[in-house]
Amino acid sequence: MPTFQAPRGTRDLLPADRVLWARAEASLRDLAARYGYREIETPLFEASAVFERGVGAVTDIVEKELFRVSPSRGEEREPWALRPEATAGIVRAYIEHGLHTQPQPVRLSLYGAMFRYDRPQAGRYRQFYQWDIEAIGDAGPAIDAEIIELGSRFYRSLGLAMVEARLNTIGDPVCRPGYLKALTAYYQTRIGEFPDLARTRLVSNPLRLLDSKDPAMVEINRHAPSMWDHLCDPCAEHFAAVRVHLDALGIPYRLSPEIVRGLDYYTRTTFEFVRPGAEGQQDALGGGGRYDGLVELLGGKPTPAIGFALGMDRIVHAMQEATAEGGAASADAAVPIAVIVGADPDDTVTRLRIATDLRATGLAVRADLARRKLGRQLEAAVRDGARYAVIVGDELPDGLVQLRDLGAASQKPVAVSALAALLRRKASAAGPG
Ligand code: AMP
Repeated sequence: MPTFQAPRGTRDLLPADRVLWARAEASLRDLAARYGYREIETPLFEASAVFERGVGAVTDIVEKELFRVSPSRGEEREPWALRPEATAGIVRAYIEHGLHTQPQPVRLSLYGAMFRYDRPQAGRYRQFYQWDIEAIGDAGPAIDAEIIELGSRFYRSLGLAMVEARLNTIGDPVCRPGYLKALTAYYQTRIGEFPDLARTRLVSNPLRLLDSKDPAMVEINRHAPSMWDHLCDPCAEHFAAVRVHLDALGIPYRLSPEIVRGLDYYTRTTFEFVRPGAEGQQDALGGGGRYDGLVELLGGKPTPAIGFALGMDRIVHAMQEATAEGGAASADAAVPIAVIVGADPDDTVTRLRIATDLRATGLAVRADLARRKLGRQLEAAVRDGARYAVIVGDELPDGLVQLRDLGAASQKPVAVSALAALLRRKASAAGPG
């Protein structure tokens, strides 16, 4: 036994282990750049209040998993904690640096270590790694689909085609209270069958009982009332529109009422990425959702936002187990060659679909998903440094779009089917830089 060992719940990744990690990291950096999610770094520790508000005082993370650190010397009076997840720190930075004055949404990507002081076991570490994506300042629904598609593409790029997307909605502060009432009333009728922990949760956080893995609760939940029957009209429309966008992109997903978040600032879309059949904790590879109430809760203006966190330790474990070799994407470019804009601000489906198809061929392309006027979309494309704008739906026959050279301010009609080849020629003609 050596004198010193890595602390319990942590591990060393030796050069041989790092090969798969590096491949996954290269893929996430490539995808983040192509989708226009720019890197942000936040400190590994923050005032613990950032997480107590941002993660929520009644969650497991804060109750028992927050990795608290106390300054050993100096004047600081504020207690600190190592970050258990990235969102709260990113939102703190968004507010602190006034990022709401930049074009919205602000698309951000963070890859790094997270810390939770939980009992270590297979697939659960005290220091682990997440890829975190946030789009702050867009109420969706198109951006919801963009983010779910991005997560799905990441797993596919690593050869993990078996990973399933599971989708749900948890409503909003208008319709959720009514649902919680109905849910609690139902649970009261079956409280005699509840496991102990579930009894406490029924008071603190009834929604979280829906994702319980306890067999007794799974059986009780089979007959529980559904959020879907209690959605207010705007939430029902949002949920339907997210699905329309996902269907238009050809992204498979399973509707799963058990995918929930227990905190008030989470709204509407929730999703998870699952590897069916993986043992124990190892099947949950990532998840995310909309958190329209969080920016305000941390002291900013009310701002809609959505994001995901993918667990890299379990992803690399799945890569090790996967027999099939995955082909990693190799294109890299931070600036999009083209931005897809549209004359009809509301037709985000077409813009997102064309951008998705072009990205699938390896091109760096962004869709403008904000429902703003064409002129504003074009301005944003120029600010992004794109060389071309693809203009959809300006009274052209079906299948034709305008390809606008943003530098020369000239444009010509092009068939959608010819776009990928044409943009690739333009990109390679320009050469690097
Ligand atoms: P969460 O932030 O809890 O929604 O977790 C998102 C993803 O991070 C999960 O699906 C896991 O893949 C991963 N994850 C969460 N906690 C741990 C942990 N303690 N050790 C390893 N991976 C984790």
